[in-house]
Amino acid sequence: MTAMAALAGAAALPAAACASPISPQSAPSDPRTPNTKENRMPFTLPELPYTESALEPSIDARTMNIHRTKHHQAYVDNLNKALEGQAAYANMSIEQVCANVASMPESIRLAVRNNGGGHFNHAMFWVLMAPKGTGGAPSPALAKAIDAAFGSMDEFKAKFSDAGMKRFGSGWAWLIRKADGSLAITSTPNQDNPLMTGIADATGTPLLGCDVWEHAYYLNYQNRRADYLKSWWDIVNWNEVNRRFGS
Ligand code: MN
Repeated sequence: MTAMAALAGAAALPAAACASPISPQSAPSDPRTPNTKENRMPFTLPELPYTESALEPSIDARTMNIHRTKHHQAYVDNLNKALEGQAAYANMSIEQVCANVASMPESIRLAVRNNGGGHFNHAMFWVLMAPKGTGGAPSPALAKAIDAAFGSMDEFKAKFSDAGMKRFGSGWAWLIRKADGSLAITSTPNQDNPLMTGIADATGTPLLGCDVWEHAYYLNYQNRRADYLKSWWDIVNWNEVNRRFGS
C-alpha cells in the first residue's frame, strides 16, 4: 500500500468528524502499514509470530506471557476506552493516532499518549524480535547507513544500548530514520515514541525499538538491565528492521 492510500482512510472521515478542527498528520512511520480495520479502533492484541518460550534464554516465557497478555492488553483496552465516541479518530491507524496525539482534546490526550504509545510500541516490539538464529542480518543498504551514521555495527550497538541504559526509569531506546533520511539513536520516557510529533524530542520512522521498562526483564534479570540489553541483540529480527528501512 502506498502512503497516499494509507492516508486515504484518514481523509475519508465521517461527516460528523468535520465539526472537529483537526488536520490529521501523516504518520512518519512505515507507509506500508495498512490502515485496515485490524489496525483501527477498536484495537486488538496481536498474536505472537512465535511461541512464548521461543526467545529464551534472552527473554523467558513467563515474562513474554505477562508482558503481552497483561501489560500490552491493558494498553489496548485503555486506548479503546479513551477513544470511544471520538469520531474524529475512529478511522485512524495506530500510527496516525500516535502522530496526532499532541493535538487531541486535553480530556483524552494523556490517556491516548500513554496507551496509544503502549499499543504501537509493543506491537512493533514483538515483531522486531525472533528466535535466536532466525532474525537474519542487516541488509547491505542498512549496514551501510548504520556505518555512515555510527561508525560501525559494533559502535551502533554500543550507542543504542547506552541510550537504553541512560533512560532513567521506564522507556524505550530507538533507531529512527529522520525526515532528512539520516539515521539516529534516541530514547523516550514512558510509552512515548518517535511518531509523536510535538512530544518526542526526535521524531521519525522507528526502525528498531527496545523496551527498557523493568516489566520487560525484571523476572529474569532483576536490576541487571545491561545484561538484558546485551542478550537482546541475539533475538533482534533484522529481517523486520530491513523491511522497515525499505531494503
Ligand atoms: Mn513493555
